[in-house]
Amino acid sequence: MSSRLEFDDIHCALRESVDGWAKAFLEPGAAERDENHRFDAELYRQLDTELGLMNITLPEAYGGSGLDLAATVISIESLSACDPGMAMSYLSQELLFSHQLYFTWLNEGIGRMPGRHGDILRQKSLAGMAMTEPDAGTDVFGMKTRASEDSDGFVLNGVKQWITNGTNGRYFLVYARTGDNRRDLSLFLVEADREGFVRSSCAEKMGMRSSETGILTFVNCHIPADALVGKLHEGVKPMIRNLAAERLGLAAQSVGIAGRCVSVMRDYVQQRTAFGRPIAEFGQIQHMIARCYAEYHAMRSMLYDTVWSMIEGAPDASLNADATKLFCAHAAEEISRCAIQALGANGYSNAYPVSRLHRDAVLLSIGGGTDEALEKNISRLLTKSRA
Ligand SMILES: Cc1cc2nc3c(=O)[nH]c(=O)nc-3n(C[C@H](O)[C@H](O)[C@H](O)COP(=O)(O)OP(=O)(O)OC[C@H]3O[C@@H](n4cnc5c(N)ncnc54)[C@H](O)[C@@H]3O)c2cc1C
Repeated sequence: MSSRLEFDDIHCALRESVDGWAKAFLEPGAAERDENHRFDAELYRQLDTELGLMNITLPEAYGGSGLDLAATVISIESLSACDPGMAMSYLSQELLFSHQLYFTWLNEGIGRMPGRHGDILRQKSLAGMAMTEPDAGTDVFGMKTRASEDSDGFVLNGVKQWITNGTNGRYFLVYARTGDNRRDLSLFLVEADREGFVRSSCAEKMGMRSSETGILTFVNCHIPADALVGKLHEGVKPMIRNLAAERLGLAAQSVGIAGRCVSVMRDYVQQRTAFGRPIAEFGQIQHMIARCYAEYHAMRSMLYDTVWSMIEGAPDASLNADATKLFCAHAAEEISRCAIQALGANGYSNAYPVSRLHRDAVLLSIGGGTDEALEKNISRLLTKSRA
């Protein structure tokens, strides 16, 4: 068993291969994809064909590799160093769809996964998860999308917004209201080509532009009885469990962005001269680099410590996933801002990746639970307060 901050040989080999592939194939077009808000489906497929990253935590019977959550986190961190948008599409398919679908059936003690769900997992098609609505983001229990039972399944009505892979994904896990209590939510597996399911693009985003984000509208959309994932009215449990995994994925994005910014800064300040000396010799630049490195090191240690504790099933893992996302998102924003500062006009331009990475980093304090929502969760859990 690895000690908390050690990786085994499989983790190390995985990191090496994803890092190498990302530098060679993901980095070169990242600025263009950002500029054109373009998701590259062909490149995305290579995450599976070249790296075997899809269904990585699932057993071989579902086309997976049977690895642990650390493998997903390592992959997301490495991809995020080059193209956080592409990493976010992967996070959505891998953690929010495949991992959530498989582990909901496995963990809830609710019987066998319908054969159709297994077939869909084996396809490894682009997929996502739809929880947020135009009038319900942080207030997730305020969602209005409803699934009403009919004679042979359910009828979905409602709108989901800001859904990653929303316009181009083939399958979605959709949360919908199935009862009258605020917590009567259920989870459904919905194919994008169902009648009554219409998709459109969201407003243009500030960052994460190489990933598509969509609006999903359901108008009397009929889904079969076996679209239900887990138990009726009991979608909150898998939702909370998956949010903890999602938060570690988003923290991994922060760590990938921060590590890249530190390395760009380190190289730049040694080459750039002012007043006849490399700017690395100026105390204020040294202060910036040292603070950023220290923060990056803390982020990385915190991330993997929480990942191991989650794998081990530690009781504080979910609390610490919230704390890790909160800390890492904030640090990534600060470090990428410092990198812009250390590079001067070059940092503010598209000549270097740091301004793009900074725009991408801002999302990490919003998606998967805002900073404010996480602060409330953490303080509630620590103080047992109800507010
Ligand atoms: C690029 C992108 C991709 C996304 N992908 C997905 C996806 O794949 N699936 C999905 O379901 N969602 C997705 N989301 C949605 C995301 O999870 C939500 O944006 C997020 O949960 C916040 O919800 P909101 O935007 O409605 O903000 P709101 O909930 O309206 O919050 C607005 C502000 O009010 C604050 N606030 C709200 N309630 C409180 C409170 N009680 N106390 C203090 N402050 C409060 C918030 O912290 C925030 O600062 C994505 C969003 C983006 C931008």
